[in-house]
Amino acid sequence: MELNMCVLPGDGIGPEVTEQTVRLLEVVGQKFHHKLNFDYGLIGGAAYDETGQPLPDDTLDLCHNNDVTLLGAVGGPAWDHLPGDKRPEKGLLDLRQKLQVFANLRPIRYIPAVSKSSPLKSEYLEGVDLLVVRELTGGIYFGEKSKGIDKASDLCAYQRHEIERVIRVAAQMAKQRRGKLCSIDKANVLETSRFWREVSNKIMTNEFPEITLTHCLVDAAAAYLIQSAAQFDVIVTENMFGDILSDEASVLCGSLGLLPSASLGEGGVGLYEPVHGSAPDIAGKNLANPSGTMLSAALALRYSYSLTEEADAIDAAIDTVLQSGCMTKDLSPNDYVSTREFTDAVIQALG
Ligand code: NAD
Repeated sequence: MELNMCVLPGDGIGPEVTEQTVRLLEVVGQKFHHKLNFDYGLIGGAAYDETGQPLPDDTLDLCHNNDVTLLGAVGGPAWDHLPGDKRPEKGLLDLRQKLQVFANLRPIRYIPAVSKSSPLKSEYLEGVDLLVVRELTGGIYFGEKSKGIDKASDLCAYQRHEIERVIRVAAQMAKQRRGKLCSIDKANVLETSRFWREVSNKIMTNEFPEITLTHCLVDAAAAYLIQSAAQFDVIVTENMFGDILSDEASVLCGSLGLLPSASLGEGGVGLYEPVHGSAPDIAGKNLANPSGTMLSAALALRYSYSLTEEADAIDAAIDTVLQSGCMTKDLSPNDYVSTREFTDAVIQALG
């Protein structure tokens, strides 16, 4: 199979983690007999420095011309003084919106080898293997905004089709996993939540009768994620609740450096990126944990190319390396390997 990927290294540790992930992907390609083509583009502060724009048109064209986009991270103190529309983060928000990636997926799973990095006791973590699906392009973040001297407002609005499409993505994921979907809302107070519940019930009854759908209020869900996260399989929720809950859930498994994400649109469009930012404090020092980016690449193989065996091989190789005690500084501050050495170990574990 021929895989065409656009790589946007971005800023800070972005270039380090994407470089190592491309190394790993090349080896996966050789092992499983795929031809991988990589196109490189600028985004964020690096793009601003070169072109005056955080998301140049050329970059957007590259993303559109490839099957998937793999992004490192954007941002850093060098660009903090810029006006809002020139900031690196604006480039990323625009990219998500222009690619129309409406479903953001964050898998979170307990890895025993790194349980010490989690603030929770391992008895609360055992069995945790969940997927948060967050609606990414609607709701209060994109509603009409106003600010006066004594009053400000942000409108939260959802259209039927925006709810239907994200529920379908979440239900498909549940189908490939343990068959359970929990939709999170605030239906005791908000009209948008009552509508979300109505629309999701209808889609699930008509199209996915084999999936067990439950509903949970967002305040209760926030507590359950700490008390009993193992009960969840797939969680689906609107933009702002998803933003908050996915960050809460990310703490469960330890370091930010381990967490991948996928943002999916219609027709297989996919933007894959680690959850972490550009980590300016460790940038350029060969200290970053590349796992989040490698696992994001595995999600690209899984979701955009249906290459399950290849994706499983990456996940398993990272688990093996962590299990062996080989860790980057975020996971093992006193006895650690560099970004490159960690990648060497993952490549070796791939066999
Ligand atoms: P951050 O995620 O960059 O860093 C938070 C802490 O986690 C830091 O101590 C950092 O060293 C550590 N860390 C993060 N990723 C790591 C990795 N892979 N390996 C080891 N340690 C890692 O968040 P921040 O410090 O709040 O933000 C820094 C910059 O990144 C800001 O400019 C922010 O706007 C930007 N940011 C970008 C994204 C993105 O590109 N998606 C997301 C969040 C923040």
